[in-house]
Amino acid sequence: MKLFGTMNVNDKGHLEIGKCDTTELAKEFGTPLYVVDEDLVRNTCREFKNNFEIEGIESEVIYASKAFLNLAIAKVICEEGLSLDVVSGGELYTALKANFPASRIYMHGNNKTESELTMAIEEGIGRIVVDNRNELEVIEYLCKSLNKKIDVLLRVNPGIEAHTHEYIQTSKNDSKFGESIFDEDMCRIINRFKNSESVNLKGFHCHIGSQIFEEKSFYSEVSDMIKFLEKIKNECGFCTEELNLGGGFGVYYSEGDKPVNLKSCLKNMISILKEEAQKSGLNIKKVMIEPGRSIIANAGTTLYKVGGTKKTYGGKKYVFIDGGMTDNPRTALYDAKYEALVANKVNVENNEEYTIGGKCCESGDIIIKEIELPRVERGDIIAVLTTGAYNYSMSSNYNRIPKPAVVFVKEGEAKIAVKRETYEDIIRNDILF
Ligand SMILES: *Cc1c(COP(=O)(O)O)cnc(C)c1O
Repeated sequence: MKLFGTMNVNDKGHLEIGKCDTTELAKEFGTPLYVVDEDLVRNTCREFKNNFEIEGIESEVIYASKAFLNLAIAKVICEEGLSLDVVSGGELYTALKANFPASRIYMHGNNKTESELTMAIEEGIGRIVVDNRNELEVIEYLCKSLNKKIDVLLRVNPGIEAHTHEYIQTSKNDSKFGESIFDEDMCRIINRFKNSESVNLKGFHCHIGSQIFEEKSFYSEVSDMIKFLEKIKNECGFCTEELNLGGGFGVYYSEGDKPVNLKSCLKNMISILKEEAQKSGLNIKKVMIEPGRSIIANAGTTLYKVGGTKKTYGGKKYVFIDGGMTDNPRTALYDAKYEALVANKVNVENNEEYTIGGKCCESGDIIIKEIELPRVERGDIIAVLTTGAYNYSMSSNYNRIPKPAVVFVKEGEAKIAVKRETYEDIIRNDILF
């Protein structure tokens, strides 16, 4: 069991975050409740910025907003000087409504619609990351009709796939994202960009996976990309100015997870990049990374109220909570592991094994399959940790369950960042005809 950021156990034996007693938060704002440790988010942003830095090359840390986005988090990210990745019109709209400077917004996606691209071009966002040669045609056509120009990166696939412990080097790549660096047509693709009047190719983007623990994966990515840039400089005469290395830094969810040492990993990535670029005679002006999960995951905690417990005929003991796969589908989706504690009994000995089950009509609606907790009773508050990333952003209204509220806590103060949905919200778009 690991506590993060400003988490603390107060003298009542209650879990505290940002100097707020979580049992009081549950009372005041209701449950389920997403709690965000604002100081932890800000400190993590600073850790990224301060370590991904080197003399002679401009560097940029871009928050991959698909992990968790709303107006309040966009403001925090902006204040910390990070840039922002969006992958849809909805994310772009949110960022703009939070007054996020368009020049610091990047747009991704393997199938951006014309209306999403139009919005991005009209708003003059910093870079569009072009997924493939066919998308270039669409962007060019839209730029021409809008009489605008746009800077772009081309997404390429370095043939490395990394997830958690291993990375696999694949010579043939069938990923749905990007163009393979092994593509024999690469020079022809680059020439198409070079000859474009409306699109300005600044460089390349790659992203090798998510929840990566092996630092070597990132170093291989840098080396392989530098080799690729050298190759296309020699073979296609294209000089790359910018290289975006994507995200994927692994975080701690549960015992056994050994997240990368951010400080050394970031420092090594950028120094390997500088050294190898120099050796290859490349003049790279700017390098970017795009962490999502690692900025926000540990800063998020979900509070639930226990409705009851149940011992099955088969011998399994369930704790039933007032949320579930609607606010956190990750366990159901890919067997994600979480740690949790009873927020009002942190100092009580763990002596029971439970399964934490949600309230949805779906057997897969489990948040934690096996966990040791103190004896749980109706009314207890369960805190599930590390729910900041890909929880709210993946939440749903299955069973017509309203989405929980989000509060940001800091120095004893709790501010609502996203209101709890109401039943009115649930039928907001329904039409009774
Ligand atoms: C999802 C994604 C990220 C962020 O990944 P994390 O694992 O959350 O750090 C970065 N870049 C791209 C292109 C992505 O698709």
